[in-house]
Amino acid sequence: MKLAELHALNADLHCHSTVSDGWLEPAGVVARAKANGVELLALTDHDELGGLGIAAAAAAELGLRFVPGVEVSVSFADETIHVVGLGIDPQDPGIVAGLQQIRMGRDARAARIGQALADAGIPGALEGARRFARNPALVSRAHFARHLVASGVMPDVRTVFEHYLVRGKPGFVDHEWASLEDAVGWIRGAGGVAVIAHPARYRLSNADMERLLDRFIAAGGEAIEVVSGAHSEDEMRRFATVARRRGLLASRASDFHGENESPVDLGRCNPLPSDLTPVWSRFI
Ligand code: AMP
Ligand code: MN
Ligand code: MN
Ligand code: MN
Repeated sequence: MKLAELHALNADLHCHSTVSDGWLEPAGVVARAKANGVELLALTDHDELGGLGIAAAAAAELGLRFVPGVEVSVSFADETIHVVGLGIDPQDPGIVAGLQQIRMGRDARAARIGQALADAGIPGALEGARRFARNPALVSRAHFARHLVASGVMPDVRTVFEHYLVRGKPGFVDHEWASLEDAVGWIRGAGGVAVIAHPARYRLSNADMERLLDRFIAAGGEAIEVVSGAHSEDEMRRFATVARRRGLLASRASDFHGENESPVDLGRCNPLPSDLTPVWSRFI
């Protein structure tokens, strides 16, 4: 496929289902993507591969091209970084075992978040979050946030994060996720392409961002989300420049979680700047 044709394709390579903290079942994500005009879709649940089989089957049924993916939680410079893996083999033992380890840590962390919120005067939050988590192995801060909204503590999910769930707030707990090198290694070992997710969302100094890029590329990382549902136009331009300067492939990603929680719906992101090489050149 020519570069212009690749750019014209409606690709959406990052979104979530009920297997992590999305609102729609995997087949529901696929159906919504198809209805929205997506032509190439990756499902990328947090630290989980459990939705990929059903999503791939649903996509085949609808004639939608599908890329198996994952969003891996990583610790780097006191910040949590998300690395998306695209085109991975969901049966690969290395990535299966690595993600299993992350989920065990996540479970212990959820208990600590519950305790921290109880100490701040909000009892029962772990049980509440669990009611929102369709997958008991995958409780995310988003589930805590939904519970706090449903129980009337805060008006919306964004406000819960601001007041309770980010560093420095009472429900935030430190946690050690995977290393950057392990995450990229698992993705590559499973035949996939590693992508830095929503780079503008990290609170990193310019020097730490450069170090992140150095280590990511040295580990075999190849792509970055330039267009993301979590990016403003200015942020998009900033990371388009990074992609050019570092020779990285560019991704386009809504990071859709659900209708009422996501600023950008499936397939509704802006196009990539036309000189960048889309990461989906690898999958077409
Ligand atoms: P966790 O992986 O448990 O730390 O949870 C991270 C998830 O929480 C993200 O993937 C989003 O779904 C959600 N999230 C993080 N920050 C915010 C925010 N400021 N507003 C709304 N949702 C957020
Ligand atoms: Mn999420
Ligand atoms: Mn993310
Ligand atoms: Mn995401």
